[in-house]
Amino acid sequence: MWSRLFASRSFYLVAAVSMIAAAIALQFEVREDPRALGGAEQIERLREREDLNLLFVLIDTLRADRLSCYGYERATSPNIDALATEGVRFAHQTSQSSWTKCSMASLWTGLYPVSTGVTRSPQSVSLEAHMPAEILRDAGFRTFAIWRNGWISPSFGFSQGFEVYHSPRAGRVPPAVHREKPTGGVSGTDQDTVNSAIEFLRSHEDERWFLYLHLMDVHQYVYDKDTALFGTSYSDIYDNSIRWVDRVLGSLLRDIDARGLRDKTLIVLAADHGEAFGEHGREGHARDVYGEVTTTPFILSFPFRLKESVVVEGATENVDLWPTLLDLLGLPGLEAPDGRSRLPELMAAVRGEPAPPSDTSNFAYIDQSWGRSKQAPRPMVAVGDGRYRLLHRAVSGRGELYDRSVDALEAVDISEEEPEIFARLTERARDYLDRTPAWEVSPDVELGESELEQLRALGYDVQ
Ligand SMILES: [Zn+2]
Repeated sequence: MWSRLFASRSFYLVAAVSMIAAAIALQFEVREDPRALGGAEQIERLREREDLNLLFVLIDTLRADRLSCYGYERATSPNIDALATEGVRFAHQTSQSSWTKCSMASLWTGLYPVSTGVTRSPQSVSLEAHMPAEILRDAGFRTFAIWRNGWISPSFGFSQGFEVYHSPRAGRVPPAVHREKPTGGVSGTDQDTVNSAIEFLRSHEDERWFLYLHLMDVHQYVYDKDTALFGTSYSDIYDNSIRWVDRVLGSLLRDIDARGLRDKTLIVLAADHGEAFGEHGREGHARDVYGEVTTTPFILSFPFRLKESVVVEGATENVDLWPTLLDLLGLPGLEAPDGRSRLPELMAAVRGEPAPPSDTSNFAYIDQSWGRSKQAPRPMVAVGDGRYRLLHRAVSGRGELYDRSVDALEAVDISEEEPEIFARLTERARDYLDRTPAWEVSPDVELGESELEQLRALGYDVQ
């Protein structure tokens, strides 16, 4: 009898453990990885491959330090972490602005904001710009974009090179999925974007493709109440939202695996800016360029697994992103970009060699009156140089200096303790502001009232 009871207890124990394991697997939705092992040699041979696809996932408003793989203590991002774990993570990436349009213009062109000429509300990317999608299209890729943010609409010049630049129709929102920002003007969820992506893959899986997804649910604080783990403050809901988007992204990765495409797809994950939670007195983004709104992730997942996670520790920026990708793919580069390929640093990190000496400076910029057409520009520029970061306001001439090696949150201004560094970086900020756009600035885009309403509903103060 005892043994029978023991047997039955074991049975229940095993059953319970299996159920918990299944529940955990379901919760995290971690995928079986179908890829073979690879290393430096396979990375160098990517440029010779004629079967390689490119999936570029841009998560709007995603701070790097809220991802588990960037050291966050909460499990916000199991699927994104899995990309980084057997791929490459750039540990110190800076976005060029905290406002989507300005930042994305720099990301695509490899030019700093003053050089793109896209720093105010009605400005657009010049048709003279040679965009990555044009380069990929000319190299034989089918080029497809799925987006849900009005700041990167075709009227602002962002569709150059894309065969299809598609804004998906809002589908059914699961009952537990909730948008915290009540004014949120973007209907539907990122699940609609992923569903469109799956449709695209279904009809183009036998061709070579470049697929750009611009995910918006972190920006909109969309999350699933049933699986939310992290409380109810604004900051908690932001984390819940990252977890939701991570899960939606996981469903796309599973589809790519199921189609047998994973071992011929290079996956790139990046963000246009972060989000503030009162670190410098503000919440949200698009108002200044402190670290909380300009420190973003950059992750590469190859069509093969690396033996272990590779981390590029040097300072890199979003203007480096396309120079690096085009270099990896062996394609023609951007025209005279400010950014540069970080392939040398990447290869050194993969081989476990010391990083080659490189320029560690970077810039971020915002015109603080970008949305007010009747106000004069009010530029704020950040200059990163090694451990130091200067914040400079052009109109007042005021500045702050931080030592990020001991003060990652930029809380203690050391401009008085370090007058020489402060003066040197202020000079560089002024030189930067003296630059002129690379192209003749495009005529201002006339925004209709409905477009303005949509942008205001995203939470922006546009006049
Ligand atoms: Zn954005």
